[in-house]
Amino acid sequence: MQFEFATSTRIIFGAGKLREAGSVVKAAGKRPLVVTGKNVQRAEPLLKLLRENNVECSTFSVSGEPKIQTIRDGVDFARREDCDWVIGMGGGSALDAGKAIAAMMQNEGDVLDFLEIIGQGKALKGSARFLAIPTTAGTGSEVTRNAVLASPEHKLKVSLRSAHMLPSIALVDPELTYDLPPNVTASTGLDALTQLIEPYVCLRANPMTDVICVEGIRRVGRSFRMTIENGRDQEGRSNMSVASLFGGMALANAGLGAVHGFAGPIGGMYSAPHGEICAALLADVMEINMRALRGCAGRSDASKRYDYVAGLLTGNDQATAGAGIEWVRQLVSDCKIPRLSAHGIKSEDIPEIVKHAKNASSMKANPIVLTDEELAEILRRAM
Ligand SMILES: [Zn+2]
Repeated sequence: MQFEFATSTRIIFGAGKLREAGSVVKAAGKRPLVVTGKNVQRAEPLLKLLRENNVECSTFSVSGEPKIQTIRDGVDFARREDCDWVIGMGGGSALDAGKAIAAMMQNEGDVLDFLEIIGQGKALKGSARFLAIPTTAGTGSEVTRNAVLASPEHKLKVSLRSAHMLPSIALVDPELTYDLPPNVTASTGLDALTQLIEPYVCLRANPMTDVICVEGIRRVGRSFRMTIENGRDQEGRSNMSVASLFGGMALANAGLGAVHGFAGPIGGMYSAPHGEICAALLADVMEINMRALRGCAGRSDASKRYDYVAGLLTGNDQATAGAGIEWVRQLVSDCKIPRLSAHGIKSEDIPEIVKHAKNASSMKANPIVLTDEELAEILRRAM
């Protein structure tokens, strides 16, 4: 057995923890750049904390998923404002933007030089301190070492990736998710679930990520529906925030699978939220993976792992994979997650998506190599 598990992020978890974070923000640096989502108002609890602790800051808001140009603008602004560290507060987009800006503040040259696939993939030399404060329970970006950036001219999403990009601190306060509307709770929560199931069955799963995934999936099984029905359910929100955090740690240390192999190219080609894409694909990927695994190739114990996932989700330890797939399918349907066709994806686009998805890094960790026809079938079913 061989594996690595790395995290140097200090994790502070708990309801109300943001209000108590005065000493954390005072110790981190002089002047933070606060990176928020489109609605700066959502960062008000943080801005209040900074005011109370006499920490002056500059704010930079990101609308939609971050683009390469967003990072250039953010770094220019941070330098003009003399910021020496960064706080990202928001969903995955704000956290990824903050993480990439913090990294580029400590590196010469253009962000493109450091990007995979479309750039030169140069190594980052370091990063400014970065504090991540998630306001959704989904991406786990608060503990991952990459930032997903869109390049509209390439119609691609690529990662800026480096061990230096692990956030210095992740402050996870489930209270910040209490007011999320049910549709956002659903799509981000299904991303979190996907980021626990894929690392658990994938080719690079290891004993450390296994315990994290099992515990995360169990909490999703127990609490997902509760948070949709009552957004202020404290235990449910707390469990979903744990699940998101664990998903981030698992994907950063094990990898993902076909759902995320598709989500990268689809996210680059269409303007569809990441969580909705993953949610629309999850059950069909599980089903086709299970069918392909019956041919005995691939990860030898992956079918058993899908059975175990079913037990964790349904609470019935006799459950087999089919019951888990059905559990996911019913949840996605009850949450009214749009089908892929709702994002403008047409059947004639399938070959192009398959071509890109095959080469995505996430696809390489899928428990079994799927054929082009199997990949196309997944897309057709999710349309
Ligand atoms: Zn994801």
